[in-house]
Amino acid sequence: MIYSYTQIAQYLRCPRSYRFRYLDGWIERDKANMIFGRCFEQALAAYFRGQDCTAALHREWGSYRDAALDYSKGGCWDKLLHQGVHLLHMFAQHDRVRIPHPQKNLQLKILRALPNGNEFVAYVDAIGEIDGQRCLIDWKTTTSRYSEEPDGLLSLDPQLICYSWITGISDVALVVFARKRFPEIRYLKTCITADQREQFDRLVGSAVSQIEAAQFPPHSGIRFPMNGCTICPHLGLCLGSQPLVDSKLIRRPGASDLDWLNEFEE
Ligand code: SF4
Repeated sequence: MIYSYTQIAQYLRCPRSYRFRYLDGWIERDKANMIFGRCFEQALAAYFRGQDCTAALHREWGSYRDAALDYSKGGCWDKLLHQGVHLLHMFAQHDRVRIPHPQKNLQLKILRALPNGNEFVAYVDAIGEIDGQRCLIDWKTTTSRYSEEPDGLLSLDPQLICYSWITGISDVALVVFARKRFPEIRYLKTCITADQREQFDRLVGSAVSQIEAAQFPPHSGIRFPMNGCTICPHLGLCLGSQPLVDSKLIRRPGASDLDWLNEFEE
């Protein structure tokens, strides 16, 4: 079995949701923001390869122009394209990130052996330099501001801890492309300790053991105001609501064989 960060994170959030997604094949319908994020990363890759990144974004996002995607409120294909082009121009003007040998240091597939013949796979966005400092880099496209307070909060980001664990690199960074009315790019750096990597190793081991023991209890978030069930795509299955299932999910039996591909969705 090959596990990924997305799978472990989903299991820890709610084991029942994990079962719906990875064993029963109930996957969320395509969301425009998520697909746009992937297209934008292809455009960034073109930028670092010295190619025309705007043309790359038009090409990649253009193939979804007529697709039936789920847009968030106020979103449309043209608006996302315009925001993406603006952010690419800003990124080039800032000129703070370097990726030496982009063929080797972008979208790195890294495998790590786990007990019982299992494996863990991660796709690290980039290894390069921000302001001259070598670090592992994760790109994020978002519509909201990434919370930086209180000081040190970023060092608790579980995905950055995961990437630090699988690569052994302590210095990590998020480059956040915020698609807001006034687009902005944040370059957020932090350091992950050896202790955090060890704890993550134990966390993965315990989650995998529970998955192998078929432990899938619901972790519902029923307390106001932090109710995780309200944003869970599997809510319709838990409530037995067919209209909700139809609006959020499609069923893809056998999808669990390709679970690790889900890592691209990050
Ligand atoms: S609706 Fe709540 S209990 Fe049901 S799968 Fe989602 S998070 Fe878990």
